Amino acid sequence: MIVLFISLGFSLDVYSGGKLSPNQAAMDVTHYDLRLKVDPYKKTLEGKVIITFILIGKPDKIEIDLLDQFHVSGTAIDGMNLAFTHKNHKILIENPGLSIFKSHRLIIKYSGKPPVAKKPPWDGGFTWEKSEDGHPWIAVSCQTNGAYIWYPCKEHPSDKPDGVDMYITTPDPLTVAANGVLQSVHPTGNKWTTWHWRTEYPISTYNVNFTAGYFEAVEKTGYILDKPLKMVYYVLPEKRNGAEDLLNDAEEYLNFYARNFGQYPWMKEKFGLVHTPYLGMEHQTINAYGNKYKKTKLGYDFLMFHEMGHEWWGNYLSVADWADFWIHEGFDTYAEALFVEEKFGKIAARTFVNNRYKKNIKNEQAVVPGRNTSTGYKTDNDIYYKGAHILHTLRYLIGNEILRESLKEYMQMPKEFPHNQTSTKEFISLIQKNSGEDIQWFFDQYLYNHILPTLMVEEEIINNKKFVEFWWKEEGFKMPIEIRFQSFDGERNRKLILNNSPNRIAIPVKSDLNIDPNNWVLYQLKKESK
Ligand SMILES: [Zn+2]
Repeated sequence: MIVLFISLGFSLDVYSGGKLSPNQAAMDVTHYDLRLKVDPYKKTLEGKVIITFILIGKPDKIEIDLLDQFHVSGTAIDGMNLAFTHKNHKILIENPGLSIFKSHRLIIKYSGKPPVAKKPPWDGGFTWEKSEDGHPWIAVSCQTNGAYIWYPCKEHPSDKPDGVDMYITTPDPLTVAANGVLQSVHPTGNKWTTWHWRTEYPISTYNVNFTAGYFEAVEKTGYILDKPLKMVYYVLPEKRNGAEDLLNDAEEYLNFYARNFGQYPWMKEKFGLVHTPYLGMEHQTINAYGNKYKKTKLGYDFLMFHEMGHEWWGNYLSVADWADFWIHEGFDTYAEALFVEEKFGKIAARTFVNNRYKKNIKNEQAVVPGRNTSTGYKTDNDIYYKGAHILHTLRYLIGNEILRESLKEYMQMPKEFPHNQTSTKEFISLIQKNSGEDIQWFFDQYLYNHILPTLMVEEEIINNKKFVEFWWKEEGFKMPIEIRFQSFDGERNRKLILNNSPNRIAIPVKSDLNIDPNNWVLYQLKKESK
């Protein structure tokens, strides 16, 4: 998701993640098959979802999430109609003694009015818009609230199905754009058409998405690290002008990401953009794009750049617990600083890090909260800006080369969890190994504590000399600090090795002391004179 600039109370008070119930912990979803008629005139959904799953334990009940405001008309497992209850946004079916480690097929028929998004994409739901020519324009967003606000699923970041089929039926002449590859377009009579899309890649539930509108599909074959990739932008007539340039920019940015973090993860399907009535969202292979070609002062499309980066940070590599959400947002946000540095140089990158990251950090809550967190936790933007700045400071501590190589390795290396799901702990272990140093103190301070470390500075003037002592207040914290001052023979730069004991230097009495002149480190300063 892109950064939320104003804080707001979510009017739809449901979230994704948290602690898995014992029933859901015993279930592994392998496939979703959505067959939905989407009616923009009545603003309703109607149809069924087929959930293929394996039991890895013996749950009392088969438990699926779906918002209460939908009407469930029937459930069946392996062809058997079964009784169910539907309350507290849960569909519960007595386990009829399903065998474990075997595949089962659950069908849920339902209908109703999905929630209307109050402030998409942050406050999710459906957006029932119209394009300028009067045709319906339908969009869905659900990262914060969870996909169960529109289709029945096991709503948890730890369970990515191996693939998804979507059969979305909308009135003519709309086009439905969705994840993966278009399989068929099938008229169903009375000027309605079913669009069948399929992805054969693992995908998180909130990334399963479609947008419908009177679109033109503007296509090109891009070359990503010299390999061909289908690129497509589904765009309304009013924004058709500019579509080719957007795809050309996309090809450049995709190559940047591929060079830095490894090949584009979905080469067999596509890179897709779809014109949405809201700003953006990283829906896998079909990124929501509502930025209207706006560029930053430096001249690149920040929105597309950010959402595209999630194809690596968030979609391919993803977290199993929203406590580690900063790995999606902070790493993706940091990629922008690397891009600015590569394209516009070191000074531009430094200015960017200061203005975009440092100035927006709040330090009100830890970047990584306790385990089993839900998306309801994310109430400020520190997972973006502080998360990104932590990687910037880490670069200073362990060196550019080691960080760059580690980020690439992290993306591609085998993980503890399936489907390239990771955790903060796994990232820390990798950095510890690659840096060859124990820097747990760094992560403890910046990720698990919301307070910035305190740099203590004490000055004393004796015999026309200024003596300055530096130390870190926090036990075990030992970040080196660069200083700059005027010496008798010109400007001097030094890097001080610091810990909890004072480190004393002498500088000319009239010299200004510039601490951390290159702005690498996040800290608070406590300065005293003796
Ligand atoms: Zn994002």
